[in-house]
Amino acid sequence: MKIREESLARIASGAGYDVLIVGGGVNGVAVLRELALNGVSALLVDRADFCKGATSASSRMAHGGLRYLENREFKLVAESVRERNLLLKYAPHFTRPLEVVVPLSHYLKGLPSSVLRFLGLSSRGGPLSVAGLKGALCLYEFLGRVDKVLPSHRTRLRRAAFPKGLSARYRAVISYFDARIRNPEALVMEMIEDALRTSRDVACLNHVDWTFDGDAVAITDRLSGRRAYLRPKLVVNAAGAWVDQVNRALGLATAYIRPVKGAHLIVRHDELHRRMAGRAFYFDDGTGRMVICYPLERTILLGTTEIQVASPDDDRVTAAETRYLTGALSGLFDDIEVTEADVVAVTTGIRPLQAGGDASVNRAQRDHLIAEDRLRSGQTVLSLIGGKWTTFRAFGEQAGDRIFELLSVTRKVGSRRLRYPGATGLGPDDDSGQDGGQDGRQDLVNRLRGTHAMAPARAHDLVDRYGAVALEVAAFCALAADAPIASLPDYTEREVRWLIEMRAALFLDDLLLRRTQIVLDGLCTEAVIRDLGLCLARVRGLDAAWAEGEIARCLAMPTILPRPAAARSTLEVRHG
Ligand SMILES: Cc1cc2nc3c(=O)[nH]c(=O)nc-3n(C[C@H](O)[C@H](O)[C@H](O)COP(=O)(O)OP(=O)(O)OC[C@H]3O[C@@H](n4cnc5c(N)ncnc54)[C@H](O)[C@@H]3O)c2cc1C
Repeated sequence: MKIREESLARIASGAGYDVLIVGGGVNGVAVLRELALNGVSALLVDRADFCKGATSASSRMAHGGLRYLENREFKLVAESVRERNLLLKYAPHFTRPLEVVVPLSHYLKGLPSSVLRFLGLSSRGGPLSVAGLKGALCLYEFLGRVDKVLPSHRTRLRRAAFPKGLSARYRAVISYFDARIRNPEALVMEMIEDALRTSRDVACLNHVDWTFDGDAVAITDRLSGRRAYLRPKLVVNAAGAWVDQVNRALGLATAYIRPVKGAHLIVRHDELHRRMAGRAFYFDDGTGRMVICYPLERTILLGTTEIQVASPDDDRVTAAETRYLTGALSGLFDDIEVTEADVVAVTTGIRPLQAGGDASVNRAQRDHLIAEDRLRSGQTVLSLIGGKWTTFRAFGEQAGDRIFELLSVTRKVGSRRLRYPGATGLGPDDDSGQDGGQDGRQDLVNRLRGTHAMAPARAHDLVDRYGAVALEVAAFCALAADAPIASLPDYTEREVRWLIEMRAALFLDDLLLRRTQIVLDGLCTEAVIRDLGLCLARVRGLDAAWAEGEIARCLAMPTILPRPAAARSTLEVRHG
């Protein structure tokens, strides 16, 4: 389905919308999904691209938030581990168990301060101990016992059993399981497509402007200039870190959000990648602050920083952040040093945390809530505040329930036990989820190979990128002559065309950062940017001058391309 054309046609048909959702990150889209499932009409608009905010800047983990136990956020942890388990079951195409290795230097030191923090009697940080972590993990695994799909934690005290080369300062290793979301942006796109297919009463547009004049909302498509006016009964403000800005544009003065910036480095270091053997490492930076890193397909994701910023638009990554993260990682193994020269890209985004709470950002509240305000014209505005990637479905469900209440609608369909479209045919029929969808994967690969005479590697790539939606992508590719992209042979021209036409990738960074994993996989070269820029212009019917402008814009985005270390250390990096 062509998300944009279909949505524009629905809006042009004069259909009114009961609900306007502002913000196309994972939470706004989760609300759209709930409304579509239950027959409530809704229009979602994003002023930029879908997933442009925190949604594409996360650590890409479905996790319970082990460290939030110390802050006694039990409700959040219980909800998060349940949602993690549901993602493993119903989105096995993109969600995989991830073993998290925690190296520890102390058996008991730090335990008393952990206990005091846990009891709410102190907020002082301290080192993590074997005893403290084991206690926390017992509680963590107890909270995650419903729909349990992951193994329990293990403790190793003998150095011979440690990962090879682990720093000599460590005396124990505990490993536990959470999950990795391989392609979070694609899961969001699946949910959009699914919502549009489920209900003709919803529409969804990226790259639009909107204004509110106190009575109606004017929506302007930035591409075609087409305009529509809307008088929704209810507005959902799902603008993440920009919630207060959006409320201001609606005439409401709110201060709900505490914007906390977080950066990741994408590191290319083949020996470290091998050494990690598919496991994440969650380790103390030496000051009691925890850092996470884990191997992606070819690169390593390393994060994250947490810096309170004054504005949600302040998403620079400073040289000091880069030094901090590479320095911390260099202390993990005795024989592996990571430098700025190994960094091939960075990601940065703003956590939309709740305002108030502990002065330390590390201990700021992570739970989500829905605030209610009223416009002068009487309509309710629901602001979605805080939340994690992992809990998007639960957050969407809670917002949906409140919307149904306000609109006097009875919920007909729940989302808890619904498979995501890309998981169709993956995993066992009985929903036990025990095999993580691996059987179904091979069937899918075989179907792609059988129907389209596809090479095994290409079939595996498509299943990794799109899950069961790969069948649709392959059918589209087969409709006309296709060829690999010269600078990026893992992708074909028609596959990229599918992403542009169907999944509304309108600008070059949409394609590079949010429809593909090219940048994260460390595959983004100048030639790739150029080839994709020209391809995008061709598909959109735009001229070479437009393509050159887009290519130049993306080449200037330091989040995308590696730069010489000397240049980067003096530069501040800004997300495009
Ligand atoms: C560094 C970092 C690491 C994280 N790691 C994890 C993790 O591993 N696991 C986890 O569970 N969670 C993680 N999170 C948290 C998670 O990413 C966020 O909580 C979640 O993505 C928030 O989604 P959202 O839809 O609320 O906001 P966003 O994704 O920020 O979406 C908001 C959208 O609103 C749009 N918008 C803004 N202003 C307007 C406007 N005026 N009009 C229209 N649209 C507008 C933006 O373009 C954007 O698309 C992490 C967050 C960060 C920053």
